This record gives sequence, structure tokens and C-alpha cells, in this order.
Amino acid sequence: MPVTTVRTKPKKTSAWIRRSIQIFFLVLVALVATSEVLGEREIQTLSFIEGASLHAICPFGGVVSYWQLATTGTLVKKVHESAVALSIIVLALSVLFGPVICGWICPLGSIQEWMGSLGRKIFKKSYNTFVPRNIDRPLRYLRYLVLAWVLYMTIVTGQLIFQDYDPYYALFNFWTGEVALAGALALVATLVLSLFVERPFCKYACPYGAFQGLFNLFRTFGIKRNAPSCIDCKACDRACPMNIEVSTSGTVRDHQCISCLKCTSEDSCPVESTLVFAAGPTASKPESKPEQTNGKEATL
Ligand code: SF4
Ligand code: SF4
Repeated sequence: MPVTTVRTKPKKTSAWIRRSIQIFFLVLVALVATSEVLGEREIQTLSFIEGASLHAICPFGGVVSYWQLATTGTLVKKVHESAVALSIIVLALSVLFGPVICGWICPLGSIQEWMGSLGRKIFKKSYNTFVPRNIDRPLRYLRYLVLAWVLYMTIVTGQLIFQDYDPYYALFNFWTGEVALAGALALVATLVLSLFVERPFCKYACPYGAFQGLFNLFRTFGIKRNAPSCIDCKACDRACPMNIEVSTSGTVRDHQCISCLKCTSEDSCPVESTLVFAAGPTASKPESKPEQTNGKEATL
């Protein structure tokens, strides 16, 4: 008979690994942006990242350049070849694992998440539930309109049109005086709204998140729920920053999943091997549903 384990406290193994990776990329991007500006002003560059720039390491710059690259063989102004190469690497990762760049790497996503931790402390269980469902659901498709607008305008103008509205650009350049008012306002709105709604920019407005979200429809490795061992506690639903109803899914195919793994048996789900990140059709199936216990850990 298969052994199924119910824990009152999941191991949180993936949580600290993800947090370390998020911090690493936040620091790295901040250093690149700072070094770029100091270099432009002929003050100083950081030797170990000399020559790197925000545009050179932004894969979305590569994505918006695809059309121009295919039709004229040139890149959109300010975009570097490295951005195109990075965008292709991220594309391959997304085919396999979904939008990992959103859940694990993007510093703006990480900052929103950390602001959200503060919001969760303030509002407790009400946090991330303020937007009524009938407004929230249609609003989540807004980011596809933003993506379509950005792609169209970039093709027409040959310029990085989104930079002036981009809170990501504003986050790393707010101190330089080069940020457009719209970008600065977008950053402030994103940070303030994050106290009420988890990852508001990712959910409603990010064009790169919209592009990445499409890969959820066919990615190889997905979040898979083993229904026979699920005890319907809904811990996964509560853990999901994107408000996805994981507890009713077989395989999560929601376009908003960011592959953060917060819902899984490693992080939130109390039943071992019930919510897993895996390829293939299902997780292994135990013969009977486990009973929830009050003990720290019980094996059935
Ligand atoms: S379904 Fe799971 S992996 Fe996807 S966003 Fe929600 S918590 Fe993260
Ligand atoms: S899959 Fe979700 S609802 Fe089912 S046991 Fe795990 S956390 Fe609870």
C-alpha cells in the first residue's frame, strides 16, 4: 500500500532557494543599472560588469525586436544582441517550465512580492482579496492589450516605446533624473497597490508577463494535483499570489501562473506528493484519501 504523509508544516524547501535567487538577481540588475549610469557620466564603472546595461540584459527588448530583426535585419534602437539571445534562452525555459522569469528572476516581481508581505501583515486574511472577482477576472486580460500596443508601437516607431511607462525601468533609474513622469507614476502605483493586491503589475499590466503567460497553455513541466490524496484544505489557493484555484485543477494551465511553486507540497500543500511540479500526465496515486491530523507529521 502506498505511503502518504500529511504535515501540518510543509518543508518550505523551495521557498528559501527562490528567495535567494530573487535577491541575487535584484542585486545583479541594480549593479548593472548603477554601473551603466556611472559609466555614461564618466565617473566609474564596476569592472566585473563593465559594458553591461539594463537594455542589454532585458529579454523583453529582444522580444519586441523580433519583427524588425526578421524584416530588416536590424534591432530596435537601444536593444542589444545579448537581449535577443537572452530572450531566446528565456523562451526555451518557458516552453519547459512556464514563466519562471516572472516567479524567480524579475526584480520588479520580487519587489511587489516583498511589498505584499507587508500588506499581508497589515490586512491579514483580507490581503489580496480586495478586487471583486467580476472586475478582477476581465482586468487580467488587460496586459494582452498592453502587449499588443507595445508590439505595434515598437514596430511602427522602431523605438523602445514602453520605456517611458515601464515601472521596471523607473525602479532602477529613479535616481538618475532620466525617468519619464508616466514611468515614475507607474512605479509608485505598483508599489502602493502591492500593499493591497499581490503583484498588481504582473496581473494586470505587464506586457512581458502576458507574453510569458501564454506558455502556461502548453509548458512541459507543470503544477499537477493528485486528486485522490488531496484533502481539499485549499492551502494551495491561499498560497497562490495570482489567486489561481489550484485546489480544483488537475494540471494548472491558468495563463497567470508564474511558476513560483508556492502552492506545492514542498511549500504549502500539507500532503506529501499531492501538488508537484512535474512533467507527464499525473502524480502517483495513493489508494485512499489521507486523514488530516493535528500532529506535526503523520504517515498513513
Ligand atoms: S499556481 Fe502555484 S506556481 Fe502557479 S502562480 Fe500559483 S502558487 Fe505559483
Ligand atoms: S492540493 Fe491544495 S487543497 Fe489539496 S491538499 Fe494540497 S493544499 Fe490542500
